[in-house]
Amino acid sequence: MTEVERHSYDVVVIGAGGAGLRAVIEARQRGLSVAVVSKSLFGKAHTVMAEGGCAASMGNVNPNDGWQVHFRDTMRGGKFLNDWRMAELHAKEAPDRVWELETYGALFDRTPDGRISQRNFGGHTYPRLAHVGDRTGLELIRTMQQKIVSLQQEDYAAHGDYEAKLKVFDECTITELLTQDGAIAGAFGYWRESGRFVLFEAPAVILATGGIGKSFQVTSNSWEYTGDGHALALRAGATLINMEFVQFHPTGMVWPPSVKGILVTEGVRGDGGVLRNSEGERFMFRYIPDVFKGQYAETEEEADRWYEDPDNNRRTPDLLPRDEVARAINTEVKEGRGSPHGGVFLDIASRLPAEEIKRRLPSMYHQFKELADVDITAEPMEVGPTCHYVMGGIEVDPDTAASSVPGLFAAGECAGGMHGSNRLGGNSLSDLLVFGRRAGIGAADYVDSLTSRPTVSAVDLAMAARTALAPFDPPRDGQAAENPYSLQTELQQCMNDLVGIIRTASEMEQALEKLDEIRERLRAVTVEGHRQYNPGWHLALDLRNMLLVSECVARSALRRTESRGGHTRDDYPQMDANWRKVLLVCSATDREAPLPRIEVTTKEQKPMRDDLFALFELSELEKYYTDEELAEHPERTA
Ligand code: FAD
Repeated sequence: MTEVERHSYDVVVIGAGGAGLRAVIEARQRGLSVAVVSKSLFGKAHTVMAEGGCAASMGNVNPNDGWQVHFRDTMRGGKFLNDWRMAELHAKEAPDRVWELETYGALFDRTPDGRISQRNFGGHTYPRLAHVGDRTGLELIRTMQQKIVSLQQEDYAAHGDYEAKLKVFDECTITELLTQDGAIAGAFGYWRESGRFVLFEAPAVILATGGIGKSFQVTSNSWEYTGDGHALALRAGATLINMEFVQFHPTGMVWPPSVKGILVTEGVRGDGGVLRNSEGERFMFRYIPDVFKGQYAETEEEADRWYEDPDNNRRTPDLLPRDEVARAINTEVKEGRGSPHGGVFLDIASRLPAEEIKRRLPSMYHQFKELADVDITAEPMEVGPTCHYVMGGIEVDPDTAASSVPGLFAAGECAGGMHGSNRLGGNSLSDLLVFGRRAGIGAADYVDSLTSRPTVSAVDLAMAARTALAPFDPPRDGQAAENPYSLQTELQQCMNDLVGIIRTASEMEQALEKLDEIRERLRAVTVEGHRQYNPGWHLALDLRNMLLVSECVARSALRRTESRGGHTRDDYPQMDANWRKVLLVCSATDREAPLPRIEVTTKEQKPMRDDLFALFELSELEKYYTDEELAEHPERTA
């Protein structure tokens, strides 16, 4: 039997981004022993890269804001497919989570009278994003790490050991969840540096592994985001929802090729930047969709006045939700009005003084100067859509973050439901804090309720080790050896070209055929060298996850015959009210196999609670709901 290092904890949190760290803090404060495991270095996660800010209706800049307005914006952004209970909890609890961060030591930018400042962002009615320049995620993670250190100091005082109750395991990748009689018993993985195996025995696991962007060729996501949590959950027996909804952020860098896809924060538009095509036209005025008609400025003059006087003017359509802006840019480029490198122009240089741009957007200034040799205080940026965020994820109970597998919880980007078909910018950082905390509480309650703990069987452990080592074996049955890097490139290209921003049935069918071919060839992936720091081997293992999540995206997208949020079909260009109440649920059918297959089933969305439903005008609901669903509406029965 291969040697395996063993640890035992009450709760294991997989992922050290915002959701993971907030869950760790909560579970540890409940007195449980907690391990936090991360594939990357501690402190390196997507959360750190979040630039724009964290949405919370504190009403510091506009007192008209409140949780009901935030709730409405979130539901509209998600085109009413959101899990409304998650959207409600998120809108109600986000302000407390932001204030709480300041008690941990965060320092947000201030208004002139000393309150936490809030900036405008797409789809948010009022300035709502608490921010620290354009480095908000960094401050969020720094603060939560600081809180973790302070908890470890308390543990030292009580037990003489800093790591008595809370230990960080970084550069450690989890490859398998282990169960007994269907309930979580532990997690298995390897140290990236030595390749040695490690087993965490624990009755509760919280998945907080972030997104899936690396399955697409052009993405703002970094190397870790291969859908591991999504795939681990599927293989453990949990379900995923909303996987057809992938957010393409409208403004990624398009030039030079080596940095294509890197994010240009929406904060640039929130602070006054405007989109123009090659003819110099502010084209977004032509793309206000019917569901948002009347809510956005129809002339440049009104849009510009809105920045100074938001109460008496409507907001600029440059700040429509991301799905709308991404599609508009796509159309401009397709119709020949793009920039030289295949994007459009984002101009802040002509709108704000140079010093103000450098003060408000320091990271953007440096990013363009260093990577593209463009001075954004003097010339426009070239930008275009980039795969950014997955709305789909592990199906969880909104209040406890529990999945359908006993002992398995999920929070953050790897959980599904909260954002419906499209996430509003800034709603992820607040989501991480609200549901990270709830997952910590959910896991703690679960552990406290157990009378005995599931155990990891020797057979399951040996199987996990065997599967992890398979890429070192030569291919069987005379199959030619496959290189993991080539397969990854083919998979990314396939998803980008055939299941990307605009989709059709024939292309998605082609994608599924290609994914089937990749599945066959994945069995023959072979890596050279040893287990010591071997990125080829790591990728071979990640590819299993990328394939599973790609199949979930493609199968669900083919099934949903309408366009909504982050799912646009050329062959079904309209939103269909009959689809609003349908969730597509992905599960793995032959979970024992190294590469299970994906099955998609349908499920009815729970009807919204009456008091929340009453927050919307009938005229707005009519854009999303069927007549049958609205038959009992008080305005119709009156
Ligand atoms: P992450 O922060 O992504 O962390 C995931 C963790 O899981 C990492 O520690 C990783 O190492 C670990 N992990 C993954 N797989 C494994 C495994 N198999 N084993 C062990 N560990 C694993 N949102 C906003 O609200 N506002 C913004 O301004 C904003 N700006 C953004 C800018 C960029 C460039 C990007 C990429 C995203 C931005 N987002 C923003 C989105 C937001 O940052 C992410 O959705 C969010 O940070 C995800 O947080 P998380 O805690 O779910 O996961």
